[in-house]
Order: sequence, then structure tokens, then C-alpha cells
Amino acid sequence: MPFQPLSFDAETHLADVRMFGQPAFGAVYLVDDDRKAIIETGTSWDAERILEAIRRFGLRPNDIDAIVVSHIHLDHAGGAGFLLESMPRAKVFVHERGYKHLVDPTRLVSSAREALGQKEAEIFGTMKPIPGDRLVPVKDRDRLDLGKHSLVFFDSPGHAPHELTILDERNRWVYTGDAAGLYFPGDEILMPIAPAPAFDLEQSLETFRRLLTLQPRGLLFSHYGPHTKPKAAIEAMIAAYPAWARVVRDKLASIGEEGVMRELYDMSCRAAKRYSRDFLERRIRVSIAGLAAYHERMEHAARNG
Ligand SMILES: [Zn+2]
Repeated sequence: MPFQPLSFDAETHLADVRMFGQPAFGAVYLVDDDRKAIIETGTSWDAERILEAIRRFGLRPNDIDAIVVSHIHLDHAGGAGFLLESMPRAKVFVHERGYKHLVDPTRLVSSAREALGQKEAEIFGTMKPIPGDRLVPVKDRDRLDLGKHSLVFFDSPGHAPHELTILDERNRWVYTGDAAGLYFPGDEILMPIAPAPAFDLEQSLETFRRLLTLQPRGLLFSHYGPHTKPKAAIEAMIAAYPAWARVVRDKLASIGEEGVMRELYDMSCRAAKRYSRDFLERRIRVSIAGLAAYHERMEHAARNG
């Protein structure tokens, strides 16, 4: 999985870390500019493969100046603390709402274990605390200048309160983290991802609208890769998220998790060939739990005025 150049930009590269053993699911990006940045770090299991990819690209880990994480979930920021040990010059750029959880990941890791269950949690790996002086807390519209490329951060809640999307002003592509859902290239599947405990539908829809106003040339999904029709992709998500939320709200009690699973799979994944049914269903399961938790929170709030 060496870094491969992306067709639209000579300095921007993509490596497939084969997250969870699945090809084309975990993307790590490298911007090879005057200052060098990687975007996303995979899970703790992926850190060695990222270092290897950097070396095969012809850089030393010591050359990396910035590690940007779209949000602090284990499959995006889990590798950060491990990578830093080999990247003595690098700082980690993280949403200000996620900062304290990277300094002390104890609660983050235990809440992931709870949400995922022991077996799935194993696959998501763990986290290593990051000293505060190696972290840069980021807020809406902060920038990171790399030379030719300038990255602008946007507060993008919905998937999680500590989610960022990142616009590269030079090429006008946007790194979407998990803020714009999942993209399965080849099968051309676009799928919501709505994890417990903090997924928020209204905030997600607001984030989609904001992404549209940026008029990006393309989207760089963390799961997975470049999408060249950003408007169509975001509009598909604007339709799919509320549709999935309705199925979970209206049917979970009557047809159960397996019944809801079948409906969501048929709504979004019928075209699947490259990705196995089992792999896609495991992603859907995360969203069923997250959407159920979201509806529970909404009902609770309504009852309590
Ligand atoms: Zn993710």
C-alpha cells in the first residue's frame, strides 16, 4: 500500500491501509508540500503500515510536520499517538472539542468498547495519550499553511461533535472524514454512518448544506478515497440520512435489528460486488445502534420539555 498520487493534484497522495483487513476502506492522505502533512491515522493497528508507506514514498517519518485527524474516533485518530513516537517534529491537529480526549483517551477508549462490544472493539485498536504540547486544538476556519497548499478547517458536527471537514484551498477538494458518510468506490455505494453515542441528524444535515456551499471540486472520503461528483454525493446523503433514520424509528421495535438491517441494506447496498455483505452489514449495524440512541435522546428531550 504505497502512497499513490491523485490525478487532480501533484502533491496529494493516497495510501490504502487496508483497515480491518479490507482493501479500499481506510484512506490516509499525504500532502507533500514545503511542509508535509498526513491526514488521518487509521487505527493503532495501522500505524506501522503508514510509517512503511511514508518510507517507501521516499520520506522519513521525521519529515512529517503535521498529522491532521478529522475526528477522534479510533479509526481516525487511533494511530496518532503511535505515529508521533517516530515523528518527533510532528504536531497533531484536532478539533478543540476532541483535544482533551487525545491527552487522556481513557474515557474515549472505554466508551468505544461499550458502543462496539468487546469483539469489534479489538479490531478498532487502542490509543496512546498525546502530550498537550504535541497537539494543536483547531476551531472553525482555522488554517494550516503547508506552502502551496493551505488547509482550512470547518466545524462539521453530526457524525460526532468533534468532527472537522478540511478544504484544501489550492485544489478545492474537501477531506470529509466521516462527516459526509461512507463511500465504497467501485460499487459506487454511498452510505450513512451514524454512530452512538453522539450522532445528531439535524447537525449532519446542516453540515451537508455547508459542504454544498463550499462548492468543492471533489470529496476525499476517509472511507474511502476521491469522489468526483461532490454535489450528487452530498445530495444523495441529504436523502439517505433521514430515510435511514425513519426506518430505524418506525420499524426497529416491530421488525427488530435484522429486519431493519435487511431494509437498509436493500436501500443502499444492492449494487455491492467488491465489498462483502458481511463487511457492509457490520457498518450498517453501527448506524442502527447510533440512530436508535439518537431517537431515544430526542424522545427524552421532548418528554422533558
Ligand atoms: Zn470512521
